[in-house]
Amino acid sequence: MSRRMTYQRFFAEAVEALKAERRYRVFADLERVVGRFPHAIRHTPEGETPVVIWCSNDYLGMGQHADVVEAMATTARRMGAGAGGTRNISGTHHPIVQLEGELADLHRKDAALVFTSGYVSNATGISTIARLIPDCLILSDALNHNSMIEGVRAAGRDKAIFRHNDLEHLEDLLRRAGKERPKLIVFESVYSMDGDIAPIGRICDLAERWGAMTYIDEVHAVGLYGPRGAGVAERDGEMGRIDVIEGTLAKAFGCLGGYIAADGAIVDAVRSHAPGFIFTTTLPPAIAAAAATSVRHLKASRAERERHQHQVAATKDALIAAGLPILDTPTHIVPLMVRDPELCKAASDRLLDVHGLYIQPINYPTVPRGTERLRITPTPFHDADLIAGLADALVEVWTHLGLPFTATQAREAAE
Ligand SMILES: *Cc1c(COP(=O)(O)O)cnc(C)c1O
Repeated sequence: MSRRMTYQRFFAEAVEALKAERRYRVFADLERVVGRFPHAIRHTPEGETPVVIWCSNDYLGMGQHADVVEAMATTARRMGAGAGGTRNISGTHHPIVQLEGELADLHRKDAALVFTSGYVSNATGISTIARLIPDCLILSDALNHNSMIEGVRAAGRDKAIFRHNDLEHLEDLLRRAGKERPKLIVFESVYSMDGDIAPIGRICDLAERWGAMTYIDEVHAVGLYGPRGAGVAERDGEMGRIDVIEGTLAKAFGCLGGYIAADGAIVDAVRSHAPGFIFTTTLPPAIAAAAATSVRHLKASRAERERHQHQVAATKDALIAAGLPILDTPTHIVPLMVRDPELCKAASDRLLDVHGLYIQPINYPTVPRGTERLRITPTPFHDADLIAGLADALVEVWTHLGLPFTATQAREAAE
């Protein structure tokens, strides 16, 4: 066998293994159209087809907001396409400095630091913070996002995983570590796959009782919750008690980038020590300007948040009435359970091919095996007609594939 063939086989086998487990991923090639979201164009080898997107993390459609797009376009024309360097070497442009000021103000912290993505902000932020604390024990929620797990791993510190949102387990681990040992609790506010929320205030109580520092990922909450869109901690009146707030500019804010907001001393230390901040080129000025525009807009305007919650509630009502087995979440995330990887993929394929609705199947390892689902994210732009169309299409797909409806619906059908 040739040298090239020998190596190619490793990669081909790696892909075959995924296919055998039915978790080989196929991407939808989409073209979003400003002014028409959630309608989009899907490109396939057979041509173009119209689709309605029901699984976007551009939760409020800010990615197409006129002011945000305008800020991006005018800044690119004035300042060019790229940043031209790392933050330290000529890449600290004025729009990113302004963006950091906007984010510090959003979270009412001394300072904020922007990274090229939310993933990077967690991976390099958590690892750097934990490495700067002598003998730090990291306490991490079992359902934390991969970027946080990566940060915990890269820290190389002792770690203890507490059962998801389990305060007793967390306190047990804190007690075992003792008050004296430095500890960092890392958790999320909104967990994006189950759509549930952490008991933020009670985690802060424990942190204060046992002398731990707190780090929260508000990626699925910033822009969406709280009077100024600073997240669930703001909504719950707990923001001031959290030491480090991490967020993304890529979901509800509709752009790209991640950040942390914290006391000046923490931000300055991360700025000075985090490899994932230091050794990479700054986000372009146009993206920073667009993100700042989006943050500023959502700080002042509640209309998007209110309409979002309204359409989410209407979607949940429609799916429950149709007997579809959604998880009843306290958030904007609507998980529709399938609990089988092949059926989940088949349901998604049929929604797309027959009904023109795009909902990506969520399979292992994103969620545990046996909890495969369709993760539906209504936005303010999913109106009553689109919601009714979604419910009808799902009922057709559920019936076609023989998927179970909820018990109440099955009883009604039998009567
Ligand atoms: C998406 C996500 C991230 C990463 O944010 P990006 O800006 O997309 O890199 C971090 N944490 C959680 C919980 C996420 O879902």
